Amino acid sequence: MAKDIIEYKSEIVRDLSSIIEVPAISPLSNGEGEAKRAELIMSILDKYKLGYDVYRYKDDMGFDRVNIVAYDRDRLDSKKRDLYLIGHIDTVAPGDIKSWERDPFKAFYDSKEDKLYGRGSLDDGHGVMASLYTLRYLKESSLEAKYNVKALFAADEELGSKYGIQKLIQDNIFKRDSLFVVPDWWTERGDIIEIAEKGILWLKVSVIGQQVHASTPDKGLNATLLMSKLINSLYIRLHERFNKRSKLFDPEISTFEPTKIEQNTDSINIIPGKNVFYIDCRYLPDYKREDIIEEIKKVANEIGVKIELEIVNDSNASYVNQNSELVRSLTEAIKKTRSIEPKLVGIGGGTCAGFLRNAGFDAVVYGTGEDVAHQPNEYIVIKNLIEDIKTFIELVRS
Ligand SMILES: [Zn+2]
Repeated sequence: MAKDIIEYKSEIVRDLSSIIEVPAISPLSNGEGEAKRAELIMSILDKYKLGYDVYRYKDDMGFDRVNIVAYDRDRLDSKKRDLYLIGHIDTVAPGDIKSWERDPFKAFYDSKEDKLYGRGSLDDGHGVMASLYTLRYLKESSLEAKYNVKALFAADEELGSKYGIQKLIQDNIFKRDSLFVVPDWWTERGDIIEIAEKGILWLKVSVIGQQVHASTPDKGLNATLLMSKLINSLYIRLHERFNKRSKLFDPEISTFEPTKIEQNTDSINIIPGKNVFYIDCRYLPDYKREDIIEEIKKVANEIGVKIELEIVNDSNASYVNQNSELVRSLTEAIKKTRSIEPKLVGIGGGTCAGFLRNAGFDAVVYGTGEDVAHQPNEYIVIKNLIEDIKTFIELVRS
């Protein structure tokens, strides 16, 4: 008879504590990347007799960025689909150290509260441990699995996944019918599955006029007036043109908000020759970034305003079909282990799942926890982690 996953609790606390104590901060945030933490994870995999492949990439600054795919060698079956559980092994920096009650890189387990403290304990210690222990449990129990279950320990998630999931997709390491579960976003009751993300597009818009003295407006072109006209026209037109609603999202519509305005002239008596403002667009998966940019250019042209556009940040919208095997199976597993009917929602986005969906894979995001990611005194409630491991075991068992 298989052990109950709860019997692994003290080992889960021990392994996660050891992982927290090896920092894995991006070189872009003055860290060394996740290579050392990856070495530790490999030694843990060796201890549990799990097999793994390593995908190592050099980043722009010369650091090794390391991704690991772990599996049980004895169970690989080419007739079965691959199901990946993904945890990212990099973390954000601790931020203001004075806001931490303890050293962010010394793990501390409060057994009364069942909370394990430390940077990365939840984000994404949760995903790493859920993936690792689902795999370990399957190996050490006699449970049959429907899939080739694989744990993917990904690099570089916090700053865009360039040397993590994006590179793995480019290098074609996944079979076309692979499925992905990403425990990297949490709700307190574990009653929500994230199946979609809105696209994000941040644009810098420069409005070009002609600078003159304020007493002779006829001789110039007032960029403030032009900007005001443009912002109003854009606000109306973009909402009209991209007006679909989706009950998955809150709010249900695409949003186009003019936000920051750059300082133009220091003097009240100068008609500014240039104004720069920004728009934050969050659009439904029905739409394409290029069409939004086209529409903005069209509006400016129609009202005779000369502009220059620059993309400051963008990520594509993504979604997985609500009726796909993956969404249905996870829903069933949650019903069975948690006795709750999960809701399917879309969010603002940014996980590994978005890249995978845009590459044509089915990927869902699910986790249970109090959302303290990126905050000082970050912690994970171990009970939530164990509940999620139970759900993932239920998801993959045959
Ligand atoms: Zn994360």
